[in-house]
Amino acid sequence: MILVIDKGHGGTNSNGVYDPGACGNGLREADLVDDLGNRIAAKLAPYDVRIEFAPRSNSLSERAAFANNLKADFFYSLHVNSGGGTGFESYIHPDAGEETRKLRDSIHGAIVSGFLAGQGVKDRGKKEANFAVLRETNMPAVLAEYLFIDNPDDAAKLKNEAFLDGLANETAWALVQAFGLKKKIVSNPRPDICLTCSTRAERDKLYADNQRLRQIIKQAYGALADVVFN
Ligand SMILES: [Zn+2]
Repeated sequence: MILVIDKGHGGTNSNGVYDPGACGNGLREADLVDDLGNRIAAKLAPYDVRIEFAPRSNSLSERAAFANNLKADFFYSLHVNSGGGTGFESYIHPDAGEETRKLRDSIHGAIVSGFLAGQGVKDRGKKEANFAVLRETNMPAVLAEYLFIDNPDDAAKLKNEAFLDGLANETAWALVQAFGLKKKIVSNPRPDICLTCSTRAERDKLYADNQRLRQIIKQAYGALADVVFN
């Protein structure tokens, strides 16, 4: 499973002009989605999913092409809204298929019903738009608008690190649920205790005493330890 997280904005065009995205109340959209994207990736790290960040290009086509070249399974685009409003909304392309619609319903529902509802954030609904990253990606794609940067109440929430972390946590959990992600299997953490022998005879004797030695080691270090002879 390959998940591409698209941190909307933050690119620099060929003239060296930086795209901060929407700005308001001392915040820049590009910074917020960078922080949010990193937090989501960190929270998904224990799960069996490969996370790739789309290049922060000013070309939306380049962002989509990156995911297409990777043959990613899902494209999730992070944005912060502006223009007078409040709350959370999500977008899919109007021509999106059944799989995309189901995934969006699941992700949107999980995000708004949990943490955001508890924080009094308005659910602005599940929307459709002909956005380039939704149109040009070959895999299911969702674009999410996390609150309004130009709304003082929304901005105050976005300035609060605990809120941002909760938002990332809820999003990561929504993705875990939507894709049925499982935790990675961690290899046996059993430590080996190495005994280095200076002579062949010493080594042979230790081998012979193997059982007794293991008993002593296990009593000292618990059942997790084992003995390796060098
Ligand atoms: Zn944006």
